Amino acid sequence: MKKINSLKSMFRQSQKWHAENKTVALVPTMGALHEGHISLIRAAKRKADKVIVSIFVNPTQFGPNEDYDNYPRTLNDDIKICRNAGVNAVFTPSVPEMYPDNSSTFVSEEVLSKYLCGTRRKGHFRGVCTVVLKLFNICNPDIAVFGQKDAQQSIIIKKMIRDLNIPVKIIIAPIKREKDGLAISSRNKYLSPEERKQATVIYKSLREVQKWQEGNLSVAQIRRKLIRFIQREKDIRIDYIYIVDTNSLTEVTRPDKGEKLLIAVAVFFNKARLIDNIEVKW
Ligand code: AMP
Repeated sequence: MKKINSLKSMFRQSQKWHAENKTVALVPTMGALHEGHISLIRAAKRKADKVIVSIFVNPTQFGPNEDYDNYPRTLNDDIKICRNAGVNAVFTPSVPEMYPDNSSTFVSEEVLSKYLCGTRRKGHFRGVCTVVLKLFNICNPDIAVFGQKDAQQSIIIKKMIRDLNIPVKIIIAPIKREKDGLAISSRNKYLSPEERKQATVIYKSLREVQKWQEGNLSVAQIRRKLIRFIQREKDIRIDYIYIVDTNSLTEVTRPDKGEKLLIAVAVFFNKARLIDNIEVKW
């Protein structure tokens, strides 16, 4: 497995693979790798000859009061995980090389980014789109794999691909969960043992929705029930619960029968912010 940190070497390596007629997949991550990331790597390996995992804690997607400084960084373990997973190159660029002084060009998706996490994390998706496009330009992948865990991010990346004619095929991998249902996340490390127990309520609440749907409740009633269900845990603070159309991300009040809805939840335990979601058919 190659360990690459310079942008030029990464670009050249990808060019070399393309010259050998190999297909290249990229799995962009911020490191602190876990089973969720590994599932993305497996999906990438099934689809391409060579797999690049980028590990870059991207400063431009963090707000001023967010956890950029404290975000878990476990590079040595990450490299072992990548090697065991059969990754061909780990790309770990530095912040100064990715964002040289006077960087002043950003990519901003202007509609879908306004909803859900966009209402809470101003500038977050601008940072995400910018770094993803930069990684695409440097790694030149045929395929890139993202997780349904960050449902809004995946939808926005697909929109950016379409709007800017970027020749990369996007694959969305399903959410990997702990045995008790909690969506695996690098940020779960922030939870105390007591909070970790309480955090199982997030997915439990989402699973309840299917039962409630059978009771012919309205979207608003289901949303209220979700809030009450989650608030049973004392240390949890709901950031948002939205029930939205899976394409437009706009809130739906009276869905058509068969319409696909995304139920997206963001909560805080203290300063740790966790997100989860499910898709349901109305
Ligand atoms: P991150 O390192 O958190 O930025 O995540 C990198 C990629 O892994 C993103 O595309 C995430 O959606 C995906 N990911 C993170 N957690 C999970 C999970 N539990 N299941 C599936 N994909 C995940």
